[in-house]
Amino acid sequence: MSITSAYIHIPFCRRRCFYCDFPITVLGNNAGGKYSPWQREYVDFLCQEILTINNIKSVPLETVFFGGGTPSLLAVEGLEKILVTLENHFSFAQNIEISMEIDPATFSLEQLRAYQTLGVNRISLGVQSFDDYLLQECGRSHSTKDTYQSVEYIHQVGIDNWSLDLISGLPHQTITHWEDSLLRAIDLKPKHLSCYDLVIESGTVFGKKYQAGDKPLPQDYTTAQMYRLGSTILQENGYNHYEICNYAQKDYHCKHNLVYWRNQPYYGFGMGAASYTQKQRFSRPRTRKEYFEFVNQLVINGGKIDCEATTATEELLDTFMLGLRLKEGVNLPLIEKKFGTDTVSQIIKTLQASIEQKLVIFSNDKKNLKLSDPEGFLYSNSVLTELFMEFE
Ligand code: SF4
Repeated sequence: MSITSAYIHIPFCRRRCFYCDFPITVLGNNAGGKYSPWQREYVDFLCQEILTINNIKSVPLETVFFGGGTPSLLAVEGLEKILVTLENHFSFAQNIEISMEIDPATFSLEQLRAYQTLGVNRISLGVQSFDDYLLQECGRSHSTKDTYQSVEYIHQVGIDNWSLDLISGLPHQTITHWEDSLLRAIDLKPKHLSCYDLVIESGTVFGKKYQAGDKPLPQDYTTAQMYRLGSTILQENGYNHYEICNYAQKDYHCKHNLVYWRNQPYYGFGMGAASYTQKQRFSRPRTRKEYFEFVNQLVINGGKIDCEATTATEELLDTFMLGLRLKEGVNLPLIEKKFGTDTVSQIIKTLQASIEQKLVIFSNDKKNLKLSDPEGFLYSNSVLTELFMEFE
């Protein structure tokens, strides 16, 4: 299958939020979009990595996603260099989607305009909450006022395709806080919304401070209620719940992320970035120094990465783990074609209890198997555990 998507990791952040374990480089509270030697060096290595890909049979890229980190801390010159390198090396489809994650208070109007001029046509704004106390308790470096200012900038430059991220299950967060954030988000009329449930990762400030379920974290019962509330309110307001954590108005789903969930291949470039090419999943080193060493070695090896291809069982489980995140679910005739009729029967038998509980349902004339909304989505982990125990 041709590869038409690329993820680019921009690791710069002002400081580390208390829940975050992403591969980032902390630049300090005053960092802005300045093309410092630190940024320049990273961009140079990243572009070298892009150039190691054998592009002889490549088709134009249809989606590029700048994630982070905080890509809006990247200087315009840096973004330009990466986009020019990508376009010269792979070429871009005419209707390419170029997404960029941005955080409130990290960019100016001029910077956003320059990103747009360079081709960025989809924005994902990391709002997380509309409550200043909750933001502060998470170590975020922005306020609600900054969020409104950012949305104003997005409107001023005329980027219509934009998304807003929220997090539920934050310390001290109540159902009322959550409902207020949802309603204030809807009021801003983003075309797309992502609602994530906080995960406490070991090694983070929260990981050291809290155990899952401990006060001031909301109880599981409350976070489940938050999930149900999000699903109800957003769908009532015209957002299609097309993925477990994602909602979009008609035709505004994220094309790039759909590639992941449909288990299709994609390139990944930069520190900590994951890729899925030639049936090989590979994650790059998560620190700056190790990533630079990796790129140097990659250049010497002529772009060859040493890692094992996914097995048929892994591919099957990945297809379910990712596909069941989607409202459309997993297409059984495709599974049958790839893995055989017996495999489909075995899957249905394994999931029989979840089917009886209506956590898993058939749709599309019994051609698709999917999770129900919201209960199936809420219990997706237990459904997946059944499959993993059967097939692994
Ligand atoms: S801004 Fe995003 S990537 Fe950076 S530390 Fe905070 S959560 Fe992590």
